[in-house]
Amino acid sequence: MPEFFESRAGKQLLALTAGALVLWSVGYVWHLQIFSAFKTLSVDTIDAWVLSIFIFGLASFVYSLLRIFDLRKEMHRQHQHARRSHWIATHDHLTGLPNRYAFENFEILQPLLNEDDDHQPMATIFSIDLDGFKKVNDLVGHQGGDQLLRDVSKRLAAFADEGCVFRFGGDEFIVVARGLAPEKSGRFGNLIIHSLTRPIQVGVIWCQVGASIGYARWPEHGDLLQDVCHKSDIALYEAKSKGANTSLAFHEDMQQKVLARAKLEGQLRDAIDAGRIKPFYQPLIDLRSGAVCGFEALARWTEEDGSNVSPLIFITIAEETGLITTLFQQLLATACEDSKLWPEEIVLAFNLSPVQMEDRLLTSRILEILKTAGLPPARLEVEITENALIEDPELAASIIDDLHNAGIQVALDDFGTGYSSLAQLARYKFDKIKIDKSFVSSLRKKGDRHDKIVQALLNLSKGLEIKTTVEGIEDNAQLAYFLQEGCDIGQGYLFGKAMPASETVSFLESRDRMLHTSTIVSAHS
Ligand code: C2E
Ligand code: CA
Ligand code: CA
Repeated sequence: MPEFFESRAGKQLLALTAGALVLWSVGYVWHLQIFSAFKTLSVDTIDAWVLSIFIFGLASFVYSLLRIFDLRKEMHRQHQHARRSHWIATHDHLTGLPNRYAFENFEILQPLLNEDDDHQPMATIFSIDLDGFKKVNDLVGHQGGDQLLRDVSKRLAAFADEGCVFRFGGDEFIVVARGLAPEKSGRFGNLIIHSLTRPIQVGVIWCQVGASIGYARWPEHGDLLQDVCHKSDIALYEAKSKGANTSLAFHEDMQQKVLARAKLEGQLRDAIDAGRIKPFYQPLIDLRSGAVCGFEALARWTEEDGSNVSPLIFITIAEETGLITTLFQQLLATACEDSKLWPEEIVLAFNLSPVQMEDRLLTSRILEILKTAGLPPARLEVEITENALIEDPELAASIIDDLHNAGIQVALDDFGTGYSSLAQLARYKFDKIKIDKSFVSSLRKKGDRHDKIVQALLNLSKGLEIKTTVEGIEDNAQLAYFLQEGCDIGQGYLFGKAMPASETVSFLESRDRMLHTSTIVSAHS
């Protein structure tokens, strides 16, 4: 009982009882006074008083009804407003689909999953990312891109129940297929790809995008939908790396790969900060004179324990994480300093990543580094792969023009392995073509397929009057072949592997000595 009087209700009851007692006593005194006053009043006056009180009471009653009505309207408005704000917070305004917040808060999804009482609840989560959306966006403009995304979301909506298709932002979507049997998931993923890759009309233009898909199952891959979605994202990442229009199921190995990669990414950041990635230099040989005409800077990452990580691995990570710009600036600055050790006619060749060809400020960044090091632009040659020309050919052409105008030479690297066409070659001002080492290693005998391809590549560069470098020369037979074909420059293990800066000067001296000796021998014979 005492607890009751301590509660809010008990306290209110006590306060009301006390108030009523006070009112009663005050009211009783007033009542006596009013009663005696009434005795002195005439009947007409009392009538007037009663009428006034009645009218006043009625007016007050109507007034309160109006206020209650207003209050109800306000409450309704606020309710609508709250519902609208909630919708905005949980939906993507462009497509009207629920967003990541809605997914992560289970607001829409969890009740739908629990609804299925007849069967053991299960679902497959598909993470979908469009391939080539950026290109289409550039082609049709942002409004056209928006329309494409709306069409894509409508197509996806056909694959799942209402509230089970989400847009997580950009060109990322999630489809939750309730009750889908595990063995049907793969086919379902392919059907989504098939549907999304059908052309979409935007204004007068027909556009086509691709789709990469990763999927994982609930509850098999996690009790929480967020965990399952994280796994379908991992599968998506793997699918993306396999090329466009791939659908992949999550597998535990993928998670290990992601963890290993995240670890390597952290180590790469540390290595860049600590300056542990250094340029090594592989000689470029003028095949006519046999002299060294340049060095190609190749990045080398040696850990404190002496282990090495291949540039094919860490350059890719640096490109994907955006670390490439910092790494590039660091390596180029060192390489410019190192190249001052060499005679002036020796060129420094430096690789550019495809992602750097999206940087309009690339040329000015390079010039700044050259200026700081005091190296003339003519001593630098940048190597660009064919793949760097695909993403934005116009921008690539303008960057190549800028480099040219600044006096920097431009070489087309790994020629023959990418996707460039002959028409593309004519469009860009290359000073040099580097025939990829895969063509050299596959050369067997005159007249075979590989020989014919190499002949075609050499004829092309001769026709365009562009110098040719051949990569990957490992033996004398290969050297003899390219000498005979009139190739200009050679590079490969036969001449030397990439070496640290400290060894380049002695390499140049020994090469000079070797040439000198062979000149004397040939003069005497
Ligand atoms: P790349 O530009 O085609 O470089 C030539 C690659 O061929 C180098 O591999 C080199 O060591 C290797 N090589 C040279 N001669 C021979 C040979 O006779 N036989 C064989 N089998 N291989 C030979 P590396 O150093 O592993 O570099 C691999 C790739 O990594 C490079 O290919 C380049 O694309 C990239 N890379 C290296 N350093 C950098 C850098 O600083 N920046 C950028 N963006 N990419 C770099
Ligand atoms: Ca290269
Ligand atoms: Ca190459």
